[in-house]
Amino acid sequence: MAHIDCQCCGAGLEVTPIIPEGAQFACAHCGLILLNVPAARSFRWADLDPYIREHGASRANLWGGVAGSALWLIIFGVVTAARGTFRPGLMLALALPYLALLAVLFRGRARTPAALWGYRLWTGLGAYGVYLWLLLTLKPDWGEVFVAAGTDPYDVAILGIFGVVSLLVGLFASARYRRRAARLPQVGGTAA
Ligand SMILES: [Zn+2]
Repeated sequence: MAHIDCQCCGAGLEVTPIIPEGAQFACAHCGLILLNVPAARSFRWADLDPYIREHGASRANLWGGVAGSALWLIIFGVVTAARGTFRPGLMLALALPYLALLAVLFRGRARTPAALWGYRLWTGLGAYGVYLWLLLTLKPDWGEVFVAAGTDPYDVAILGIFGVVSLLVGLFASARYRRRAARLPQVGGTAA
């Protein structure tokens, strides 16, 4: 019986000889797909930085990611203010769902397999792209402000296409990963 700490949720997994050397299995706690190899066996959850164990990423990566992802909103606000086209309603309609999406994504970073989290990011950004496209199409005066801030009408249409494609790719890839994990031997143990 080998002992492997899950690299995603920290559960102490008891790997029985049913799973041969080099074979894949899934963590029964978080769904991460792991390999029964020396590198996986030598990994120790307890050696990870406590912040990473708690939040799924280092403080710099997490907050850098949040700040970097929200930067365009600040730039958009500054550009429209400088041009005298700033609309508080548009700013709120852009920012609130986006910040809520970032909060959900980054709060869910811990204990979510990195690949699945990436697919979730695609799904979320895709949904936001569709929302933005609908918003700017249904409210043409806001659409004009958006276009005047440096995009062109073509970019607004691209948002809708990008949104639908990204949403579907994200959903499809998540379902595929989960299906793949579900077909593998499920290894449980002590939750972290
Ligand atoms: Zn796990």
